Amino acid sequence: MTRVLVVEDDPQLLRALKINLQARKFEVQVASDGAAAVRLAAARPPDVVLLDLGLPDMDGVEVIRSVRGWSRSPILVLSARHTSEEKIRALDAGADDYVTKPFSMDELLARLRAATRRRAEAAADASPAVVDTEDFTVDLAAKKVRRGDLAVRLTPTEWHLLEILISHPGHLVSQRKLLLEVWGPTYSDNTNYLRVYMAQLRRKLEADPSHPRYLITEPGMGYRFEP
Ligand code: CA
Repeated sequence: MTRVLVVEDDPQLLRALKINLQARKFEVQVASDGAAAVRLAAARPPDVVLLDLGLPDMDGVEVIRSVRGWSRSPILVLSARHTSEEKIRALDAGADDYVTKPFSMDELLARLRAATRRRAEAAADASPAVVDTEDFTVDLAAKKVRRGDLAVRLTPTEWHLLEILISHPGHLVSQRKLLLEVWGPTYSDNTNYLRVYMAQLRRKLEADPSHPRYLITEPGMGYRFEP
């Protein structure tokens, strides 16, 4: 049985989530503030966390940082905040995905299933040496990319970007994280670099670079590798 920790200070929403999750055979623990969430998660690590960002006692992002100190459980953020900055902060702190309120229960459950499935797959195969798509193959250990029989030459910067994205299949990787890891802290605002290098990668890897199948842009947020 998948154990889910639901952290939400709105009692009606908390109750609705609990009823719906229990009906789908989840084991549900609830917390209505950040301190209780951290305490519960530490006492008995959940398989997945549903976390409201706006909590009465602390910022939900602090809860993510705290839990991420010792747990790899997927964290799905419930956010009423519409600015992408809040979502990016949550993703950078270690959240796996987010759902914007108001959400449908079906969407929430689908994302919950996806988050737990990805984590199970990641655990089963921590770092696949070779990522194979219908159009290209990336050998992470050998640092080689092929399209059919042809070797694809990537610059070190292109390779670094691609490596980060394909190491998080299906996950949104924020612009800030990519800029920080590839270019360093001084360049964290240079999103134009990302656009330029992602366009180059698409030209080299995608069958139709203007309609990418694998290297997806999440406007204003970041990029995602869809395997
Ligand atoms: Ca709230």
